[in-house]
Amino acid sequence: MDIKELYKLYQQHPCITTDSRDCPEGSIFLALKGEKFNGNQYALQALEKGCAYAIVDEDIESSTLSSQIIKVDDCLQTFKDIAREHRRQFNIPVIGITGTNGKTTTKELIKAVLSEKYNVLATEGNFNNDVGVPKTLLRLNKEHEIAIIEMGASHPGDIKTLVETAEPTCGLITNVGRAHLQGFGSFEGVIKTKGELYDYLRTREDGLVFVNADNDYLCDMLTDEMWCTPYSTDPDKQYACISGEVVSCDPLLKFRWRKPLMELEETGASQKWHKVQTNLIGAYNIDNLLAAIAVGINFNVDRKQICHALETYVPTNNRSQLTETPYNRLIVDAYNANPSSMAAALENFQMVVPHEGETKMAILGDMRELGEVSLEEHQKTVDLLAASSLTNVWLVGEEFGKTNTQFRKFKDVEEVKAEIQKNRPTGHLILIKGSNGTKLYQLPELL
Ligand code: ATP
Ligand code: MG
Repeated sequence: MDIKELYKLYQQHPCITTDSRDCPEGSIFLALKGEKFNGNQYALQALEKGCAYAIVDEDIESSTLSSQIIKVDDCLQTFKDIAREHRRQFNIPVIGITGTNGKTTTKELIKAVLSEKYNVLATEGNFNNDVGVPKTLLRLNKEHEIAIIEMGASHPGDIKTLVETAEPTCGLITNVGRAHLQGFGSFEGVIKTKGELYDYLRTREDGLVFVNADNDYLCDMLTDEMWCTPYSTDPDKQYACISGEVVSCDPLLKFRWRKPLMELEETGASQKWHKVQTNLIGAYNIDNLLAAIAVGINFNVDRKQICHALETYVPTNNRSQLTETPYNRLIVDAYNANPSSMAAALENFQMVVPHEGETKMAILGDMRELGEVSLEEHQKTVDLLAASSLTNVWLVGEEFGKTNTQFRKFKDVEEVKAEIQKNRPTGHLILIKGSNGTKLYQLPELL
């Protein structure tokens, strides 16, 4: 079957399941493979449970169900092809978001802003890989007016594949930083991979990018023929369509923004600053917020509504959350960590003014997946800490364990838990950050 025929089949059975435990009557089972599973082994079971068809990429023998089995070369590719075909049914703006840090936060902020005016489809949670992107696209229906697709990458070529599936009309790279260096090979590999989004948009006549003009790496990737909407925190960058600045961060971020270019087009009223009190921790979030404003302005969302959306957005899932316990205040950022987000978090933490009588403390876990530069990057973080005003720092994990430092080290989260149970710190403002695998998310309930 070619892709047109496969898509026709999908239109007759518009539900694809990749999980044999969840087989709605009349749906299509698609056999994906992972490190620990092979969907082909469950194809017959899925048909017996009620799926109308099973798409497989291995030979499956059956005397009774063979008419319902469709063999393709590569199920994952077929999944992407069907999703692309489905996306092509909708002539709406599709915004692709990638970058090292802040993709999900930016996506959620954009979703909040655009939802003030439009019916928006957005990636759920963090489903940003080559399974998540097709799944999201297949949720598109005729009610949707705009789609926002988060695209994650850990190897060169990852973004190319995702843009070829989602065919975005607009794009946004939040930033480029030192993460997944194991998979990318080098920082240059990171830049090139994220740039695959721009490479695709450059080929579209309607392609538009939203650019953080404060980021030289991103600006260097632009070429003259590209449509772009820059945003910036630099008052000298008057050409930026949106500019903003931090008002305070204690630790929730308050900022203000305006649209300087409007000076040329409108009356003085448009130059006025809009102040927004957010529920986000971390001054670095201003980039994510300005990105959302740039998108909102581009799609003609009213400024008051933009402010309202940003003011009411509350982050979830251990992404920079502020928690107050009877003993301490915690800034929990235990969902992921890489050298650039760690540096941003530490810089921000130093800016935060503690309550009276409160002292600052940081519990930091290893940054995973850094490959051969891992020790070097951990040492850089430790050196950054040594040069900072922070004195009470606990380092958790094998990689931090290998660094040369005076700070206190713990083998793993269990050792930290044991210490807390013996001798709980109190009266502190504590930053908790590390890769998810270091399990620091287990600490807040003890602190
Ligand atoms: P993932 O790669 O896991 O999908 P992501 O890019 O979606 O991550 P978020 O989930 O939005 O990123 O944020 C994760 C963490 O990254 C935050 O808790 C914060 O520490 C950090 N972060 C968010 N935005 C920025 C930014 N603009 N600059 C630096 N660090 C940031
Ligand atoms: Mg994400």
